[in-house]
Amino acid sequence: MHSKPIYYEEPYQRTLRAVVTAITEKGVVLDKTICYPEGGGQAGDRGTIAGKPLLDTIKDDEYTIYHQVQDPDFSVGNIVEIVLDWEHRYHYMQMHTAQHVASGLLFHHFGVATVSVHQGERILTIETDQKEIPLSVCYDLEDLVNQSVREAKPVSYEVHTQQSAQALDLRRSIKVESDGVRLVVVDDIDTVACGGLHVANTKEIDLFHYAGQEMIRGHVRLIFTIGAIAREEIRRKERNIEQLGALFSSPVEDLLEIATKAVTQSASDKSALKKCNECLAFLELEKQIAGAPVKVETPVVLWEVENDLSLKAIGKAATSFENLALCAVQQSGEQVFWLIALVGEASTLLNFSKQRQNLLSSIAGKGGGKPPLYQGVGTGEGLILLKTFKDLLV
Ligand SMILES: [Zn+2]
Repeated sequence: MHSKPIYYEEPYQRTLRAVVTAITEKGVVLDKTICYPEGGGQAGDRGTIAGKPLLDTIKDDEYTIYHQVQDPDFSVGNIVEIVLDWEHRYHYMQMHTAQHVASGLLFHHFGVATVSVHQGERILTIETDQKEIPLSVCYDLEDLVNQSVREAKPVSYEVHTQQSAQALDLRRSIKVESDGVRLVVVDDIDTVACGGLHVANTKEIDLFHYAGQEMIRGHVRLIFTIGAIAREEIRRKERNIEQLGALFSSPVEDLLEIATKAVTQSASDKSALKKCNECLAFLELEKQIAGAPVKVETPVVLWEVENDLSLKAIGKAATSFENLALCAVQQSGEQVFWLIALVGEASTLLNFSKQRQNLLSSIAGKGGGKPPLYQGVGTGEGLILLKTFKDLLV
């Protein structure tokens, strides 16, 4: 069921007519194909086959290539035309070649080995064997790769026996065990065994951009963007910075300083606002206490709290009184937030733990706390909780 791979001889071929030899659950098999199957960190090809969307290309362990066609309306024996999503394929060829150049330079110039690589939809990542890579090295690498783009270095192939390939002592160990080892040679920069697809010349990488780094498995993973996507990403970041500058009414060069000041100011505003809320809650609670009935020297406050007051702040204020039985609810649509404070004598008038079920069942309330404060959330009418609280006070 093997398809003859045309993509190695003709990596730039975008269309091909082929015969359908099988239609299986895994996908459509053709007698020959230009579609590269997913593998070696490179995505499978997409496009159309007989006008139907080709969503992905995969292979199995026997190297049968499956074309995952959406709703195929052709049969075994039909001749169909493959049309590649060339933008997608070409970007992968650019990224893959850029990865060889970058890994070769990292190894030979900086003594940094490549542990694993991944070519994503928009980014290329190289996991290195290093715990730390200074920014200066990343920018030197970026410059060197872009220099190889300007110098337009040819990418060629050699086929070796296992023995002659092993004798070359390449930077990356050879994964295939058979003879006929395919080596990709990026001029004087890098030679490794590779079954992927590459551009024919480093000038086609177009642009190599260092986009950051992250830690993975204790190693630095470098992130790059390539070609048209790199240009798009750089422009997008520039627009974002410009918009931030406009937001802070600041020239871009002063933006970091102005934004840092704004963040510090906002933190101090937040802390001042918290204090204001606490003062306000205290004053409002005092008002509620002044108008509340008293039971055994304990004011009993039933309070439907406005939404601009914080229950947390009210709870804090409640603890500064000697004796207080407080039940406060705050309605927010179907939700009701509740607060119960049993301060001083109030704890002898109502035992929260014993009455928890009686109090909270009417609002399917959840939550709890420890004396003298209890807090939580429920659903329904907060007023029912206020009434139950009042009835339960001895
Ligand atoms: Zn390769």
